[in-house]
Amino acid sequence: MRMGNILVSIGLIGLAHHAPSQQSSRAPNLTGRVPILMYHIVGDHDGKYWRSREGFRHDLQLLYDRGYRPIGLAEFVDGTFELPRGIAPVVFTFDDASPSQFSYVERNGKLEIDSLSALGIWLAFGKSHPGWTNRGAFCMLPAAKAGHAFFGDHGIEGQKTEWRFPKLKQLVDLGFELCDHTLWHADLRKYPEAVVQEQIARGALAIDSAVPGYRVRSLALPYGAWPKNRALTQAGSWRNPKGGQIVSYKFDVVLEATGGPAPSPKSPSFDPHRLPRVEILGNYLATLLARLEREQTGFVSDGKPLKVAR
Ligand SMILES: [Zn+2]
Repeated sequence: MRMGNILVSIGLIGLAHHAPSQQSSRAPNLTGRVPILMYHIVGDHDGKYWRSREGFRHDLQLLYDRGYRPIGLAEFVDGTFELPRGIAPVVFTFDDASPSQFSYVERNGKLEIDSLSALGIWLAFGKSHPGWTNRGAFCMLPAAKAGHAFFGDHGIEGQKTEWRFPKLKQLVDLGFELCDHTLWHADLRKYPEAVVQEQIARGALAIDSAVPGYRVRSLALPYGAWPKNRALTQAGSWRNPKGGQIVSYKFDVVLEATGGPAPSPKSPSFDPHRLPRVEILGNYLATLLARLEREQTGFVSDGKPLKVAR
């Protein structure tokens, strides 16, 4: 099984007859749905907003074995991702910027990615599973309480404040995307338009402080909640009272928190400013993948880049 997947993922066509029939025979479906998975804390148990480390590893393996490979959020909406024929895309998103997703440990004066954090688990998995590339988006809070400030500060879970910006840079260098999740997870339903824009603009501004010039293309709605004026999630601006600087934002992608697998960019129901996501609890991922396969409603690549007319 594993060997078959390796052969498929590195595209050794001459040996493709060794690939598991399940994937090599899977017919392309360019209008099928793509699961955008939403993770929060990756820790020692499963629960609302929690995925156990063991469960997370299991999710990666299950997806790999079922012929899924990660693609980026921007690649997904742009239709620029490329996967071998018969392979299916999956988009990972990690919300709320907790140390459980990305923490450092100091060893002999050097910083290492904690192998127990979600990123550490991901990177180890990628090393032993060819074709599992560093793609996915971290939807972050720069200034929320209890360690939810760019993956931990002030010694919370051993994380130092000065490690925050280097972590964001490292995520970009590794191939991941940075996504805005507001300043401190404001429920945008409850605030006037000026505060909605301040929350979103300051989230983007903080990312720019860490990685100057980085183009933030996506916003994840806290609690999946829309402000009264939905247009403000796509574009807006805020004037910084300190110095009068105007901070503007414009997003290509707005992520909800529920709704099931997302429509393909080729589907008439595709709306990048309102993309549904899937929260993974317990064995739900296995159930979802089985359903997509049984009903043949999942996206399956034909081996060529998707051409999206826009
Ligand atoms: Zn959140």
